Amino acid sequence: MDYYFLRNNTTAMHNSKSLLWLSSFICIALALIITFCTSDNQASFTTTKTVSLPQASESPIRHSLRTIEHPTWQSANIKVNKGDTLDSIFKQQGLNARLLQQIMNLGAPVKALQALHPGQTLKFIMNEQGQLEELFIPVSKNQLLVIRNTGQGFEAKTTDLPITNKMTFASGTITGSLYLSAKNAGLSKASISQLSSIFGGEIDFAKTLRKGDTFNVVYEKKYLNGKHIGNGDIIAAEIKTHGKTYAATRYIDPRGKTHYYSPKGMNLHQPIERYPLHFAFISSTFSLHRYHPILHIYRPHYGVDLAAVTGTPIHSTANGRIIFIGKDGGYGNAIKIRHNRKYTMIYGHMSRFAKHMHHGTRVHEGQLIGYVGQTGLATGPHLHYEVRIYGKPKDPLKIKLPHGGPIKKTYLKDYLPVAQTEMAELNALSQDHITNS
Ligand SMILES: [Zn+2]
Repeated sequence: MDYYFLRNNTTAMHNSKSLLWLSSFICIALALIITFCTSDNQASFTTTKTVSLPQASESPIRHSLRTIEHPTWQSANIKVNKGDTLDSIFKQQGLNARLLQQIMNLGAPVKALQALHPGQTLKFIMNEQGQLEELFIPVSKNQLLVIRNTGQGFEAKTTDLPITNKMTFASGTITGSLYLSAKNAGLSKASISQLSSIFGGEIDFAKTLRKGDTFNVVYEKKYLNGKHIGNGDIIAAEIKTHGKTYAATRYIDPRGKTHYYSPKGMNLHQPIERYPLHFAFISSTFSLHRYHPILHIYRPHYGVDLAAVTGTPIHSTANGRIIFIGKDGGYGNAIKIRHNRKYTMIYGHMSRFAKHMHHGTRVHEGQLIGYVGQTGLATGPHLHYEVRIYGKPKDPLKIKLPHGGPIKKTYLKDYLPVAQTEMAELNALSQDHITNS
């Protein structure tokens, strides 16, 4: 991959100066990796490690890389104020109007210079003689215009600001819920959701996980200009429970779709998820003989009650079609979704439905369909969730969920080495983690 990156870039570059640029670029990236690793190892739970060089690049607006080779060059960051023009800024920098004209003649890329915005920051790099060597101008949130003195004149190029993905390792031991333990390990809510949906088909979090179980996760943190702008996907993860290790690695298929498979290529994504809420506790289980808290009589409870605060999002556990939506007696605001001939799901006591939910609407697994409430016969906010198999109510927590099957044969060859690399990465990081803690 590194090789590919170098080859690809060198063909695109025109002179040796650019090559120097690239090499200093890599030096900076390496320096960043080292600082990052050493500074982060003190954290007890998470270790951060930078991914391979192609992505480990920093925006040149922060690090003008040729200044490393030319320590005597000066750089200036100029913030555009209201009323500033390029003329006035150039003058301020001791650069003449003829140079500006020369730059403005560089064609399409410099069109962006015609309109400066207050707040924009321009970076000027000058040599020892006070001549312009480089000029960096952000033209959009993720694009940078680079004007550079090549020695034979100026060239202008618009480049995409690289979003840096840093592979981050998180590890933890279950003490209370998976949610809290994962949160303590530094995972965001979105990453925890992803973790639970990756393994949700195989592990019943509410019932199976217990104190002392462990998890290891490698996920992406995204940076732009060195600023953390959010988290990306989980790349590899494992959960150890009851003496068994469940592992998953990410695979992006040739069509660009993301999947998670076991390292051997079994689909971890099951067509029906166990829970329609990610974080809830079971307040009442399936029972054919239950004392009803409001009606004060014994009668069957054909579903499971998942307690959560009002407004908690409810996700469809499967693809299907809405065959009922509206008020339904004791169920309150309810939705019935038919998955196929075999499975129908019922969601009750909702405070409200999600937008665009109607009779006949097709929904996909994981889609938001409504919000937890306590409409109908309910003593507190919770979701009443039912699964019917051929019309007969079954315990949603006990039914065997259908399997997703193996990865497509045509993808297997492509996937196996990916899985191997990702698992090796995970194992190496968790080994590091054990040694360091
Ligand atoms: Zn119920």
